[in-house]
Order: sequence, then C-alpha cells, then structure tokens
Amino acid sequence: MEIEKYIKIIGDSYYGYFNYLVNEMFYPSWHNYFWWLLGLSVGVWLLEIFLPWREKQAIFRKDFWLDGFYMFFNYFLFSLIAYNAISNVAVELFNDFLGLFGVENIVAIHIESWPRWAQFLLLFLIADFIQWNVHRLLHRVPALWEFHKVHHSVEEMGFAAHLRFHWMETILYKSAQYIPLAMIGYGLEDFFIVHIFTTAIGHLNHANIKLTYGPLKFILNNPVMHLWHHAKALPKNMPYGVNYGITLSLWDYLFKTDYIPHEGEYEPLGFDGMEEFPKTFWQQVTYPFFKKKSNEDAE
Ligand SMILES: [Zn+2]
Ligand SMILES: [Zn+2]
Repeated sequence: MEIEKYIKIIGDSYYGYFNYLVNEMFYPSWHNYFWWLLGLSVGVWLLEIFLPWREKQAIFRKDFWLDGFYMFFNYFLFSLIAYNAISNVAVELFNDFLGLFGVENIVAIHIESWPRWAQFLLLFLIADFIQWNVHRLLHRVPALWEFHKVHHSVEEMGFAAHLRFHWMETILYKSAQYIPLAMIGYGLEDFFIVHIFTTAIGHLNHANIKLTYGPLKFILNNPVMHLWHHAKALPKNMPYGVNYGITLSLWDYLFKTDYIPHEGEYEPLGFDGMEEFPKTFWQQVTYPFFKKKSNEDAE
C-alpha cells in the first residue's frame, strides 16, 4: 500500500478543512455547524439563567471560561479536523485491506432503498450505541480513564461542560463510530443533522436546568440522569460508573446501568483524588501522557 496516498488524503482533508473553516465563520447558514454551536450554547445558557435548577449556582459558574475554551477547541476545531483526516484514511485503509482478498463492495447492508427517515434512525441508533460502549470503556480501562478524567473533573455543571474533554476522546469516539458507519454506506453529510441533534441534547444534559422529558426519559438522556453520571459517590454494585448514555438513556435502562436514587441537584461531583488533578487546559491535556510515564517509572 502506498503511503503517499494516505499522506495526500490527510493533506487534502486539512486543506479542505481550512477553506471550510473560513466559510463557516464568515457566512452564517443553516448548514453551518459553527453558528449552530453558538446558537445552541446561547439558547441553553439563557435557559440556565432564567430557569435554573440549582439556584445557588453562579451564572458564570466554576470553570465557565475553561469549559468554553474546551468547547471551541474540541468540537469546532479539532473534532472536524480529526473527523475528516482520520476517518477518510481509515476507510481507505479498510477498503484496501478488503481489496487484498478480492472483496470490492463493502456495503453489507443495502439501505439506499430505505426511506430517508429510516436511514437516519438506523444511523443514529448505531452511532449512539457505539458511543455508549466507548464511554463504558473509558470508565473500565484504566489507561482510557486517565483521559476521561478531564470530563469528570467538572465540579459545577453547565452547558459548556458537555465539551470539556480530552481531544483523545474525539479520536476514540469518531474512529469507533465512523468506520463501521462508513462501511454501511453513510457519507459525512449524513452526520450533520445527527451532530446538531446530539449537540443540543448533550448541552442540555450538562445544563443547570431540571428537565426529564416525562416518559421519554427512558429513551432520551437528560440533566437529572447525567448529573448522576458525574456524581463522586458511586453505588457499591457499580464501582466503574452509572448512566453511560450519551444522547439516549435507552441503553442504560436495557443493560441495567441506570441509577437515579433521587434528584440530587447538589450532589458532589467528580472523582476520588481530584484534588491533585491539574486545573489548567494545557496541564489537563498533557497530564495523561506524563501520568502514564511516571507510573511506568514507579514500576
Ligand atoms: Zn463518563
Ligand atoms: Zn458529562
């Protein structure tokens, strides 16, 4: 396999992304993720200001600006770069790998003939179930937990905490999600609507608003359920974590990882030993690499 080909794909992706970025920022439109993210953030923040769940929490809560920085760094800048570059390479590699065995068509399920809404629903369900599993692994595998700690170092919940996470998570989630979906035959454009919907639900999940969606709570994740995912004290029978749902709560109810003992708006958040966890962006994103090294040195 020619390495130049992959380098060219990565190069083209970044160049394409740069043009895309300039367009996004200067030409607002309905197909524009940057303005969606801004609009959703302002909208959910206004809800927090006028209908707060924890009335004692400040409007500019602890780490508001740090999380705001994470938000743009992660979702806007890095996730789209990684999205393009990594996923295109991975799909190309997989195609070449199958080609070695003389297999050319990798589309296992023919969904082109399905109605559009059914295609979307399937895409969304598969993507969310993959995310739920990746999230469980982030809690179960010690090396992955070191990266996921950034997200769990939130002490006061607010919409921007949604996108406070280590950039490595983007790589893990997007690779795990996009590769199988691309094999079914979805293109990047199909992800846009799903992306907007999941961003809205994710912002709400972390917001200081009391929302449970009535009976829909068994399907959709919500701020009350996700607060317990961030709780410092875990139940004895589920020491790794509870409520792993990203957009859907369905998987937690199906696989019995749901846990909402009471409303818990002032439940302490975080993890054991978080006093020693670094406080700045740069320290937080470099910490897992140094942490791992110092562990190895100790052994
Ligand atoms: Zn988590
Ligand atoms: Zn969270």
